[in-house]
Amino acid sequence: MHADLPILPQTRSFLTRQQKMLIGGQWLDAASGQTMSFRNPATGEVLGEVPSASAEDVDRAVRAARQAFDDSTWSRMRPRERQNLLWRLADLMERDAQQLAELECLNNGKSAAVAQVMDVQLAIDSLRYMAGWATKIEGASVDVSLPLMPNDQFHGYIRREPIGVVGAIVAWNFPLLLACWKLGPALATGCALVLKPADETPLTALKLAELVMEAGYPDGVFNVVTGTGLNAGAALTRHPGVNKLTFTGSTEVGKQIGKAAMDNMTRVTLELGGKSPTIVMGDADLQQAAAGAASAIFFNQGQVCCAGSRLYVQRKHFDNVIADIAGIANGMKLGNGLDPSVAMGPLISARQQERVSSYIEMGRELGATIACGGESFGPGYFVKPTVIVDVDQQHRLVQEEIFGPVLVAIPFDDIDEAVSLANDNPYGLGASIWSNDLGAVHRMIPRIRSGSVWVNCHSALDPALPFGGYKLSGVGREMGAAAIDHYTELKSVLIKL
Ligand code: NAD
Repeated sequence: MHADLPILPQTRSFLTRQQKMLIGGQWLDAASGQTMSFRNPATGEVLGEVPSASAEDVDRAVRAARQAFDDSTWSRMRPRERQNLLWRLADLMERDAQQLAELECLNNGKSAAVAQVMDVQLAIDSLRYMAGWATKIEGASVDVSLPLMPNDQFHGYIRREPIGVVGAIVAWNFPLLLACWKLGPALATGCALVLKPADETPLTALKLAELVMEAGYPDGVFNVVTGTGLNAGAALTRHPGVNKLTFTGSTEVGKQIGKAAMDNMTRVTLELGGKSPTIVMGDADLQQAAAGAASAIFFNQGQVCCAGSRLYVQRKHFDNVIADIAGIANGMKLGNGLDPSVAMGPLISARQQERVSSYIEMGRELGATIACGGESFGPGYFVKPTVIVDVDQQHRLVQEEIFGPVLVAIPFDDIDEAVSLANDNPYGLGASIWSNDLGAVHRMIPRIRSGSVWVNCHSALDPALPFGGYKLSGVGREMGAAAIDHYTELKSVLIKL
């Protein structure tokens, strides 16, 4: 930690305490006593240790969640009370917003100032949005026919019930926000949850657990197990006591989780990787589009599932747009996210720094042009914002998710080519179109194969709009009314009168 960059005293004391997991309302070490360390990506230094959960701890957490789910305190709690609890939790997060942002910054590397207005505020908004759903979960009354029993009368109706115990596994790029996208609908619908944060970023999940308890949730409704994906994550995935798995992370791990879920017929939603296109049409406000394209890829160090990592620009404006983006990139100050003047922090880990650098090196070997950036440096895990041009659409740089501040850019000649290039990728999470031609934009939107399309903006998320992917970007949706469907089961009831 940088001694000259101030943090709140409560952030400092949170960091120095012995971290424990929350299981069934109790703060516990791992049964094995094992711990694992996590780092500050801005310095590379070890920041602390958390319990390293094994299958035994996961089993304990799932049982605690099951007990809470079955217990009358939670199962008979009225929707209005579930709504009020979520509001209370959101209020507590607002009270501690700066501390949450500082913890996120220290553990993930992102700017604390940005985390406070983006990550923490969006997490709070998503909980308040989901709080409203608690009182609006509806079934239906159905006028049934039953032709084989013509002389009887029936009352048919459909109940929408909480799905049960939810196992939530999240990535490290937005640790608090991703956790809240799962916690909100789970607690609004009356489920109980076991959360496994990413190996690298356990801190805000533990702070969130503290606030859940302070808000007054019954013991076991929310549990956090810290541990590795290979041990704790895999154990949660395989556990037969879990009714629904909700996962945010890589497509590779998502596929494993999806397959394992089917062994127990566990319901599953998967929010996975992306390689989202930014399409700049010739009629767009080109300066606005260049600034938007830069922020689409460089925000959060490019570690955003829906980052605009492929840029397609109408050919006659290509060089100008690239020059503008390179100018923005070259002007970005890199450093510790606690410094409010810093525009870009480090990547999450040495591994990620190496991975991203290896893609840039691949571009160099291929003879592509590095229009700006390209270098990495330390201490900490920094990679300069990079733009690569003169690269073929079929190359790995254009087809694979890099998950860092690396933009690959290709010119196009007409709308059909732009749509075809945008869709020519195994992922389908998001896409943005920059244009002032309303008719052309509306004609393009249905042709783009992705879960979100933004026009003259990128990665703009709202809790009322479902978010998720086509193709390899996932299964199911988070947020919006769609999320409530994913956390509930339907029960058909038929009463012979
Ligand atoms: P990851 O898949 O390696 O890890 C994600 C989580 O899964 C972590 O908690 C990890 O511990 C756990 N895990 C790892 N192996 C596991 C296993 N075998 N069984 C169960 N759990 C396991 O992903 P990452 O590198 O942490 O995150 C980056 C990826 O997440 C990127 O691909 C990014 O696009 C994606 N992402 C998607 C969204 C979205 O909403 N679509 C949002 C953020 C990130």
